[in-house]
Amino acid sequence: MQHPVKVNISPASFANNIRYLRRLVAPAKLCVVMKSDAYGHGLEALAPVAAEAGADCIGVCTNPEAAVVRRLLPGMTILRLRGALSEEYDESVASLGIEEQVGSLQAAEYLNTLGQRRGRPVPVHLKIDTGMGRSGFFPHQVEILQAVCAMPGLKIVGLMTHLANADAADLDSTQRQLQRFDSLRKVLADTLPGDVLVHTHNSAATLRLPEQRGDLVRVGAACYGVRTSTEFENPPALRPVMSIRTWVMEVRRVPAGTPIGYGSLFRTHRDSRIATIPVGFGEGYPRALFNKGIVLIKGRRCPVVGRVSLNITTLDITDLDVPVEWGDEVVLIGDQGSERVTFEEMADRFDSVHTELNLMAGHMNRRSYED
Ligand SMILES: *Cc1c(COP(=O)(O)O)cnc(C)c1O
Repeated sequence: MQHPVKVNISPASFANNIRYLRRLVAPAKLCVVMKSDAYGHGLEALAPVAAEAGADCIGVCTNPEAAVVRRLLPGMTILRLRGALSEEYDESVASLGIEEQVGSLQAAEYLNTLGQRRGRPVPVHLKIDTGMGRSGFFPHQVEILQAVCAMPGLKIVGLMTHLANADAADLDSTQRQLQRFDSLRKVLADTLPGDVLVHTHNSAATLRLPEQRGDLVRVGAACYGVRTSTEFENPPALRPVMSIRTWVMEVRRVPAGTPIGYGSLFRTHRDSRIATIPVGFGEGYPRALFNKGIVLIKGRRCPVVGRVSLNITTLDITDLDVPVEWGDEVVLIGDQGSERVTFEEMADRFDSVHTELNLMAGHMNRRSYED
């Protein structure tokens, strides 16, 4: 079937990034984060690639995601990256074998009961809230944590926290989070098993704070080759994995003063050439890129003009010094000639994050997997 937009995922680039990160973080272990259908890249297609490239563990959020990984990779360690509902725990303990993140006494007691009932402890990672403010035990809840560690139905395999500002210019608050975490780790040293995995780092921290990587890093963005911080360039070895392209549907010449698109919010201020493409927010190209998006045609940057509609977007190609024709390739995200448009750049233009663009493009279109 012919599709108007091609969202391509490069398995080789994904594997390359994981191999690079694997070497970079050793001897720490690498948890490849593949929640939200591998950030829109496709869990089913990429989980085996991650395993092959050296992932020690795969991070997910939901039971259906865990079930996909379990089916494809029976022996893989699966870590849930959030707390869960009691029904999720029931299923996980019965059949999925997820290493659960636990951030409250109530959740710990629930899992303890499940572990005792089946006669084998449930592997859990204790989640500490050192400053993210969403979930987890507070660092001062030492007695509760000690009680959790003593529960016979639990096997404490990890002690973890999540960093709120590892991508920020100023790493002070991140250092404060890491200090709070480390103090608690010391307090609990005699309570925790000797082989417990201590982990704190997401992509940005993994790349920016190499000395404090701990026993395991949980890396999502960097595996998909997207920028992890506006304050820090990714190592050049990390390659983008997803690209999006389409083709010119119509080329039109219009006089100065012509209104373009819904609401007539853009009017040509000169005699113009407008290229129309068969892609809009129905294909995951954000409506918010109205008068802000940039695409590549013939290796040149061309601006989106007028409203992005559901399935059509208009581009100003007046300044192109080369002819543009029906069917010419248009790169929405990716490389063409010597130019590049990235998810990060487009996300910055409407105060979003690259992951949101990856997700929309990946979920709203058929994906192809070609290197
Ligand atoms: C999503 C997630 C990560 C990965 O974050 P990136 O910035 O994409 O590397 C790490 N840890 C936890 C707990 C997460 O939920």
